[in-house]
Amino acid sequence: MIRKFLRRVFRRDDASLSHAPATIPVARHGIRRERVSPGARRTCEALQQAGHKAYVVGGAVRDLIAGIEPKDYDIATDATPEQVRGLFRRARIIGRRFQIVHVMQGGETLEVSTFRAAHDAHTAKDEHGRVLRDNVFGSIAEDAARRDFTVNALYYDPASETVIDYHHGVADLQQKTLRMIGEPTLRYREDPVRMLRAVRLSAKLGLTLDPAVRAPIREMADLMQNVPAARVFDEMLKLLFSGHAVECVKRLREDGLHHGLLPLLDVILEQPLGEKFVLLALAGTDARVKAGKSLSPGYLFATLLWHEVLAAWELRKARGDVPIPALYEAMEDVLNQQGEKLAITRRIVGDIKDIWALQPRFEKRAGKSPYRLLELPRFRAGYDFLLLRAESGEIDMEISTWWHDFQNADPDGREALLIADSGPKKRRRRVRGKKAAGEGDPLAGAASEG
Ligand code: ATP
Ligand code: MG
Repeated sequence: MIRKFLRRVFRRDDASLSHAPATIPVARHGIRRERVSPGARRTCEALQQAGHKAYVVGGAVRDLIAGIEPKDYDIATDATPEQVRGLFRRARIIGRRFQIVHVMQGGETLEVSTFRAAHDAHTAKDEHGRVLRDNVFGSIAEDAARRDFTVNALYYDPASETVIDYHHGVADLQQKTLRMIGEPTLRYREDPVRMLRAVRLSAKLGLTLDPAVRAPIREMADLMQNVPAARVFDEMLKLLFSGHAVECVKRLREDGLHHGLLPLLDVILEQPLGEKFVLLALAGTDARVKAGKSLSPGYLFATLLWHEVLAAWELRKARGDVPIPALYEAMEDVLNQQGEKLAITRRIVGDIKDIWALQPRFEKRAGKSPYRLLELPRFRAGYDFLLLRAESGEIDMEISTWWHDFQNADPDGREALLIADSGPKKRRRRVRGKKAAGEGDPLAGAASEG
């Protein structure tokens, strides 16, 4: 009923909605149903048996055709969220603005969304043309038209093994081109995050940006300023954890998108040491993604912001501040400046600080200090970070080699590696009072938390 009413109110005769889609047989796209996850197959089947349309949609179809294992599966259907929930034992409706259903099948979670209507003159937008609400049910043709790129608007039916293609997405994918559905400048205005998606998806899939997709990005990059920070943060994480972060950053710079978009990249990539450090960190992240290892946003953001911390720390030391408190203040400065812009969550801020705060402790290679450092839960992250600093030329390799040896040595070997405490350090410790060496370390608490 709602749909009928809306169709009457929002009647549109957009060409993209009126043309018939191509139905592409398996011989041309190559996806046999066995390649689709069991959960996605079962979910489509159950919906279809109940008389609904149901397709695997979006990134999963695109990735399967491109020969990449999909991260997750989205299902699109004409069933309403309540109808979907009613069909599955383990399903819950999530989201307030636009409801989608999470259906649990075995260990999988499938995201099932009801076809959404395209935007038109009545859609609520901000003064820059950014779409504020996107919560009206529609037809499959409308659902296809509101997606961003042609390669993302493919609907795969496991039952018939056909792909429904309204926008020549299969051909674009086979020709390795990322093309926008509709007019790119308008689509970027509706949602500036699509610029970031263009770069990420082209890097991930090895696609060339259609000139019409690429050309406006440089001029329109400023529109990213109007996007809520939490959304930019989510997209940034997707990009940085895509397994193609180095390639993405390279493309972002080529397209002038690192300006304004990611202020921290701006600052960092312009410092000679910072650039090497960040690129090494991103290459390390890419390798971890490819090896299927866990990823920590805190660690990554700690690397992205480190050279700003170093710069702020140097300034404070140069004006005579005591080194360790100066480091803490520099950390606060940088996090206050960037934290808000990047919507870094509180939990991540804690992780970031822990990693930074550990760094000066690696310089102490005498007495009990190295043993204590080794026991900290954050030691591994701190050490990996130290390695990056050494590899990028910020600090002497000798320190990271020492820590490598120290970790791997037996008790006697460790004892032998300890560097005799130097005179001035001892004097300073005595001045501080009765505490045993190292116990007065202001970083001990912060670093061991978490
Ligand atoms: P991946 O999952 O590999 O990161 P994806 O394309 O699947 O890439 P998702 O964020 O999972 O990205 O989005 C799923 C689908 O939703 C997309 O394929 C696309 O059809 C649609 N979509 C996502 N974001 C947008 C957007 N900003 N504008 C229009 N359509 C979008
Ligand atoms: Mg996806």
